[in-house]
Amino acid sequence: MFKKILIANRGEIACRVIQTARKLGIKTVAVYSDADAGARHVKLADEAFRLGPPAPRDSYLQTELILAIAKRTGAQAIHPGYGFLSENEHFAEACAQAGVVFIGPPPAAIAAMGSKSAAKTLMEGAGVPLVPGYHGNEQDAAFLQQQADRMGYPALIKASAGGGGKGMKIVERSEDFAGQLASAKREATASFGDDEVLIEKYLTKPRHIEIQVFADTLGEAVYLFERDCSVQRRHQKVLEEAPAPGLSAQLRAQIGEAAVRAAKAVGYVGAGTVEFIFDTLSDDFYFMEMNTRLQVEHPVTEMITGTDLVEWQLRVASGEALPKRQDELRIHGHAFEARVYAEDPARDFLPQIGRLTHLKQPAESVHVRVDTGVSSGDEISPWYDPMIAKLIVWDESRERALDRLSAALEEYEVVGLPTNLDFLGRLAGHRAFRAAELDTGFIKHHHNELIPAAAPITAETLALAALAELALLEAQVGIARDRSNDADSPWWHTDGWRLNQDNRHALHFRCGEDEHAVIAHYQDDAYLLEIGGDRLVAHGTLDGHRLDATLDGYRLAVSVVRQADTLTLVHDGRNTVLHPFNPLLAGLEAAEAGGGLTAPMPGTVVAVHVRTGDTVEKGQPLMILEAMKMEHTILAPQAGQVAEVFFQKGEQVKEGAALLEIAAAAA
Ligand code: ADP
Ligand code: ADP
Ligand code: MG
Repeated sequence: MFKKILIANRGEIACRVIQTARKLGIKTVAVYSDADAGARHVKLADEAFRLGPPAPRDSYLQTELILAIAKRTGAQAIHPGYGFLSENEHFAEACAQAGVVFIGPPPAAIAAMGSKSAAKTLMEGAGVPLVPGYHGNEQDAAFLQQQADRMGYPALIKASAGGGGKGMKIVERSEDFAGQLASAKREATASFGDDEVLIEKYLTKPRHIEIQVFADTLGEAVYLFERDCSVQRRHQKVLEEAPAPGLSAQLRAQIGEAAVRAAKAVGYVGAGTVEFIFDTLSDDFYFMEMNTRLQVEHPVTEMITGTDLVEWQLRVASGEALPKRQDELRIHGHAFEARVYAEDPARDFLPQIGRLTHLKQPAESVHVRVDTGVSSGDEISPWYDPMIAKLIVWDESRERALDRLSAALEEYEVVGLPTNLDFLGRLAGHRAFRAAELDTGFIKHHHNELIPAAAPITAETLALAALAELALLEAQVGIARDRSNDADSPWWHTDGWRLNQDNRHALHFRCGEDEHAVIAHYQDDAYLLEIGGDRLVAHGTLDGHRLDATLDGYRLAVSVVRQADTLTLVHDGRNTVLHPFNPLLAGLEAAEAGGGLTAPMPGTVVAVHVRTGDTVEKGQPLMILEAMKMEHTILAPQAGQVAEVFFQKGEQVKEGAALLEIAAAAA
């Protein structure tokens, strides 16, 4: 076994690998970019080396530098995690040249599976079923269209080099083919530097079922059953489970064996995932692609098989045999993984950046596991994936595991930036999800229930907000009194005693477009609160972030985070963000409603649709920014005329930078 390894990655997966290495008594070397100098993976490792500036090409993709660090520290092997260099055959080759073990498959196996088209040809030869379509070398537009016409619509155009859901276009009708092909090729060239595409029949109600395979250097290969990853947005996974509900033992063995054949066909070594698409209308399954690395969702497999797949990776890479034979592997219970992302479900899951001002994770146990790379106070930056953590739960049955998931999600508290926690909670509690009515259109289909319009704020929530503000006010008065020379002055009393006997506070909150007022009267150790037409007696004590409140005899606890002009209440995994304000000052602060448009996050301008002097309609696309691996269209907030365009195609913009100026049309 290795004595020391280097982990060429960041975030939760770097932490995950370090944990197993430590368990096995292996020393670890972390690497980091400037954005990650204080990151959790750097603190956990025995040694850490700086790579460079935050951009991946300047840091985590610096092959030569990473190999030099391995040499210098005496690391015998490199674990690439997922993403970054994990599926780069040139890096695997460079490791071999440098005499360092690459913890992953041989370069030839990575190369064989790197092109979806070539992989399909290989699989066909190994007798693995394929989705009907065309995956040959001929790339002539008319020829490809002919193939699609013959197969029938809807069709799916996919980039052969694709990944992360990019370069995929659905074609509904023959007339749309040429346009969608051009668009897929453009995206493929931009993202992967390769415009080769393949055509597949687009299945309208499929499930994504994938098989975890493992092979050693001695020629043995096994499958560790399947994961169902059908809950997706933008063709990307959000929630995974194992085993796949409703899959018969016979079909499980059939797909598992097909996956092992796939691995053997390319001389595979280590952890890999063979992805299948399962047609729920016909019960047919087809090979989709093979991911030649440890997958994000590997923990659900670990939970149901009682294995540590990183340990398996390390053992296999150091030349040992697979820890278990196929007949020693069993499924025990059911597991879910929910990916907690900094993203806004209400805005089509737009990635979010910002500081995690408050982070409280569910308590870990045999049932609950949290894999994360961040701590309270860390930042989710625009440079990398916006995943905050993976919440993994296990129990004897699917129903019980799902209850565990709901409970753990309610315990999760993240304040500082929008997350998908509330969305995940609704998903875990959704009737159709509980009934395992799964297909990749699940989120779209149940959109209105999973992402409901914001509910009006309740009197109860406003009462909690008022109690929090009053408690914070009292704490401030307390600090002032402690600092004062005259601590006994009646002015420092916080128990409501006032010279004029009229202890009345008016508190004002803004929430979205609405404004709310709460009038608080101090009465016998509690407050009488007037909220709209309601009156209630409220009492609260604030200890750190925890507010223990009693509202008309109902006792409850919530978390409270106050920063700058926002007050966030967290209750049962749901955040309510309020902005306390002083109406006397509000008039002075009111920003002038200008036509300036700013960048929602740092990124690159990929298209400018308008010129100075153009007349635009409200909602018209003005500019496209690319940031966090996604395109963001900047729309005109009102009708008017373009007064100025500040950036051109290809330019970098900082967050908050003014992009364009629109002069409002005269009413
Ligand atoms: P999975 O199918 O397991 O979700 P993906 O292929 O979507 O995996 O990507 C795995 C992880 O690697 C994701 O967190 C993704 O953001 C990240 N990733 C994908 N491509 C890259 C890349 N080129 N560079 C860095 N990270 C990447
Ligand atoms: P990536 O490399 O981005 O992971 P995949 O080929 O694995 O690309 O496809 C990603 C997702 O797109 C799948 O999980 C599935 O939801 C959807 N998808 C892929 N192929 C098809 C198809 N032929 N019909 C319907 N949906 C598909
Ligand atoms: Mg895939």
